[in-house]
Amino acid sequence: MIAPQDGFSASYAQARVRFLEGAAAAGMAISSHNHPLPGRDGETLAMDVALDGAPDAQRLLIVSSACHGVEGYCGTGVQVFAAHDAEWREHARAAGVAVLYIHALNPHGFSWMRRVTNENVDLNRNFQDFSQPLPVNAAYAELHGLLLPAQWPPGADNQAAIQSYVQTHGLQRFQAAVTQGQHAYPDGLFFGGTAPTWSNQTLRQVLRRHGRSARHLAWIDLHTGLGECGVGERIFACRDDDKALARARAWWGGGGQTPVTSIYDGSSTSALLTGLMWCAAYEECPQAEYTGIAMEYGTVPVTEVIDALRADHWLHLHPEAPPAQRAEIKQRILAAFYVDTDEWKARIVAQARQAMFQAVDGLAASA
Ligand SMILES: [Zn+2]
Repeated sequence: MIAPQDGFSASYAQARVRFLEGAAAAGMAISSHNHPLPGRDGETLAMDVALDGAPDAQRLLIVSSACHGVEGYCGTGVQVFAAHDAEWREHARAAGVAVLYIHALNPHGFSWMRRVTNENVDLNRNFQDFSQPLPVNAAYAELHGLLLPAQWPPGADNQAAIQSYVQTHGLQRFQAAVTQGQHAYPDGLFFGGTAPTWSNQTLRQVLRRHGRSARHLAWIDLHTGLGECGVGERIFACRDDDKALARARAWWGGGGQTPVTSIYDGSSTSALLTGLMWCAAYEECPQAEYTGIAMEYGTVPVTEVIDALRADHWLHLHPEAPPAQRAEIKQRILAAFYVDTDEWKARIVAQARQAMFQAVDGLAASA
């Protein structure tokens, strides 16, 4: 076992090495899916997959990180800690549960400290049926020009206009308008894309390869950036299905935790979203009974998260920005999705570990 803070890394490249070393030392079967583009320091980018357990296990738990790139600074810490956690590994093994760690679902965003993929796409809005008309987000269209002004930092007029929107419609409506996803502005925020991204297609391959034997499939997808600092909100990550919600609440609702929240009944701090990543579990592993949550850890207030994302998207559109400003914006986006203190990291690992034990117990009890 390592200290909780020792699983966390200062860059994608370091996180990748620690993950691969931890998985290899534990004797896990590793496969790597290389990304076509290089990372920030010229390093190879990959979605790395490590399986701890039998390839044909009927009960499979997926623990994944960096769906939203920069959020991988958190998720990778959980995965590296787990690879060194003998008690956890023995608990899963004894229960007949195989654990599939997917490291860096979106390695490009992780390395470049962006929330989005190299296609500027929010991976967790990208799992739409692109043969059908895509959802329209009219409220985002109203805000797009304000969110991405020509100059950064934005002027007083811009700030007053955003303030006025929030005062008129409320913070919740503002958050929903910005974050629920949009498919009309490829350079905008929370763009869901108009085709499957590299990460979407690669994840589907991984699920087909590793998820087709499972009769019972669970998934804990690690996120940051919403809610109270250091608290992991367990957000129901299945279709709007009462049986699955009851199962998720039975597995993950105990142990003094707040109940599993849902975007379908308004109990989550997250807005109602579409095109969500775990839709792929149903499509690629149709034989399995699927139960999942997103662990959403709080960092800083949501308005600061949105402002950090605005700055990062502005920077992406303005490569001519001076180095000092670039560094300041990158520091800001990292701080919006990762709290670099031992206390925060210990809380992250403890809550993830509890959710992982609960998932194994839930899978083991499934008939
Ligand atoms: Zn996220």
